[in-house]
Amino acid sequence: MVYFEETIFDSQEGDRICFACNKDIEQSSKFKIFKICSEKNCNFHFHISAKERIKLIVDQGSFKEINKNLTSSFEQIAQEELENYDEKIKSDQFRTGLDEAAITGTATVNGKQITIIALDFGFLGGSMGLIVGEKIALAYELAAKKQFPVITIINSGGNRIQEGVISLMQISKTVSAVNLLKNSNIPMISILCNPSTGQAMSSFATLSDIIIGEPGARIGYSSYRKLKNKNSDQLKDQYTSEDFLKRGFIDLVINREDLKYQISTLIEILKPKFSYKSKKLKISKNKNLKFNDALESLKISRNIDRPKSSIYIKNIFTDFIELHGDRISDDDDSVIIGLGKILNEPFILIAQERKIVTKSNNNVSRNYNNKIMPSGFRKANRALKLAEKFKIPCLCLVDAVYPELSLKSEYSGLAFSISELISTKLNLETPILSVVIGEGGSETALAFSIADSIMMQKNSIFTPLSPEEAAKIKLGDSRKIKEISNIMKFTSEDCLNLGIIDRIIDEPNEGSHQNHLESAKLLQEVIIEELSLIRNVYPKTLAKRRSNKFRKMGDYSQKFKTDLKTEINIWGSAFRAGVSTFRTSKSLSEEK
Ligand SMILES: [Zn+2]
Repeated sequence: MVYFEETIFDSQEGDRICFACNKDIEQSSKFKIFKICSEKNCNFHFHISAKERIKLIVDQGSFKEINKNLTSSFEQIAQEELENYDEKIKSDQFRTGLDEAAITGTATVNGKQITIIALDFGFLGGSMGLIVGEKIALAYELAAKKQFPVITIINSGGNRIQEGVISLMQISKTVSAVNLLKNSNIPMISILCNPSTGQAMSSFATLSDIIIGEPGARIGYSSYRKLKNKNSDQLKDQYTSEDFLKRGFIDLVINREDLKYQISTLIEILKPKFSYKSKKLKISKNKNLKFNDALESLKISRNIDRPKSSIYIKNIFTDFIELHGDRISDDDDSVIIGLGKILNEPFILIAQERKIVTKSNNNVSRNYNNKIMPSGFRKANRALKLAEKFKIPCLCLVDAVYPELSLKSEYSGLAFSISELISTKLNLETPILSVVIGEGGSETALAFSIADSIMMQKNSIFTPLSPEEAAKIKLGDSRKIKEISNIMKFTSEDCLNLGIIDRIIDEPNEGSHQNHLESAKLLQEVIIEELSLIRNVYPKTLAKRRSNKFRKMGDYSQKFKTDLKTEINIWGSAFRAGVSTFRTSKSLSEEK
């Protein structure tokens, strides 16, 4: 269900029927408290004022308005315009009880101090005039001084035409204020309500670290009405929060009733108080592990019941909030990013999510359906930037074989997005841990695996190309898996011996597929142990050390030459396979 600007003021006090779904809402507690039609019905979010929006988010009695009486002489406005404008302002002041379209102040959310900015659509469409711009800028400046997170509630559309070019200038004014916080670790969270368009959207509102949309809200730059005139009826279910979520521009769509809890959790994780200083945990690295042979590891790594990232997220994280999108073009669901806590330590997660594709009569899962798109690499890159900004450790789970090899993928910047991700990772000034949990392959696994500590679950594999392809190229038959498996050196034991990884994580019983909970527990313990080793390293030292580690990867010693001989052959094959795969998919797409 979506809003229409024409109807947002409908169903005010006294209405008993939801005009969107015609259901009776008189007795609905959700309508009474949150002004929403229940989820059982249509979940329509009715218009409420800026003051009501603030009240629903902050702790009772904690809001203290700032710069309430800010006024201006409006000397820049022509006399004849001024009279009408003055009248309009007075009538909106009377109607809304506000002095201007923006209300700003400080408050607490579940006890956490914040600065809050809210625009009221009921006051001249929530548009940005001189006073609105000034109040917003002052609020950001106060947040920078006090180190308070900023919550901005946007309900705004159009321009303050009465103030002409002065109105336009508020865009750069507010952006300059946001920039004060951009390089600090003060979280900025925007909530986009219906409508959120115009100057607020082309300035401070879309520069926040986390952007949340209310369900069904019309958001974007142009007003829905203008866009509809140009695009006739094509916009029926478009131009909403949900639509922008899918296209990678906003992080979350959250129901009004859940906003307070989610904002409180986000602030807590983004402004963490770490629970230990220099405590080092007991590390049990050299436990005697019993390894399977290469072929057995390969089979287990592909077992249909082997836990995928989402299962580990459920079992090792608390308070996990998934974020979405690359803020450029798309939200690739083969990569999951988000914030949460592992044993009370805040983490930012980047995980490759395997989609299980089975062939009849076997027990093998493959992830060929979720090849990572350039937007997936960019999404991961965005999560890394958040981790660095807020100095939160980053955990990467690796479980994908290939990027998407197609012209579409190339034209959305495949090569560029991979190199950018690798570069960010090598320079990142916050701890990174990575774990290969299934089948990791090619640059896709490499880019996601770069970390201060790279780990593999015992039965996972790490390979430049799939064993089937290697067998086809090297031995002329893709079924000769057993033979090629003994040559390829893709097991966790091989990778540890080659110095590619730092640690192997044990698995329960015959493999993680037999006990998901136990496997998650083993993973969780090791993650916290490894973090304890690097948590207190100076961030610049950490980045430098990581960069040096990868510079030296494959040190050109005699031992390495011997170990590497077969690997080089395989990589040669990988290169040729990559070219031929690309050619095949290119010619296929050209045939269509
Ligand atoms: Zn309804």
